[in-house]
Amino acid sequence: MPSISSPNTILIEVQGDVLKRMGKRAEAYVQFASFNPSVLGFVKAGSNVIYVNEIPYSRVAIDSEKSHDYLYVVILHEYLHLIGIADEREVRKITLEMVGSKFGENSNAFSFSKMLTFPEDVKIMENRKYFSHYM
Ligand SMILES: [Zn+2]
Repeated sequence: MPSISSPNTILIEVQGDVLKRMGKRAEAYVQFASFNPSVLGFVKAGSNVIYVNEIPYSRVAIDSEKSHDYLYVVILHEYLHLIGIADEREVRKITLEMVGSKFGENSNAFSFSKMLTFPEDVKIMENRKYFSHYM
C-alpha cells in the first residue's frame, strides 16, 4: 500500500490544513467500513471516528493519485463535521474552497469534491437514521 494514500497520513494533512485555516484541531480516527455505497463517509454525533465507505473507495484505491484526492475530500468533509460544523451547506462550501486553494480549481480533487458532494448530502441523512436505529 503506498504510504501517500494511507488514510491516517491524509487525516494528519487535513488536520494541519484545517488548523491553519480555522485555528481548530480535534482528535480523530479514520476507519473503513462497508455501508450504502452512495454514502461516501460519515461521522456520528459525539464520536471522533470518521467512517470511510470502502465500497466506493475500492473503485479508486488502485490509483494512488486518485486515491489520495478521494480520501482527502471525504476525510476533510467529515472532519469539518467532527470539529463542530453541522451545516451541510457550510461544510460543502469550506471543503470546495479548501480543495480549490490547495489543489487548484482545475484539479481532480476539486471536480471530485464538486461532483460528489450533492449525492452524499442527500444520502447521509438516510444513513444517519439507519445507524441510529442500528446502534
Ligand atoms: Zn456532510
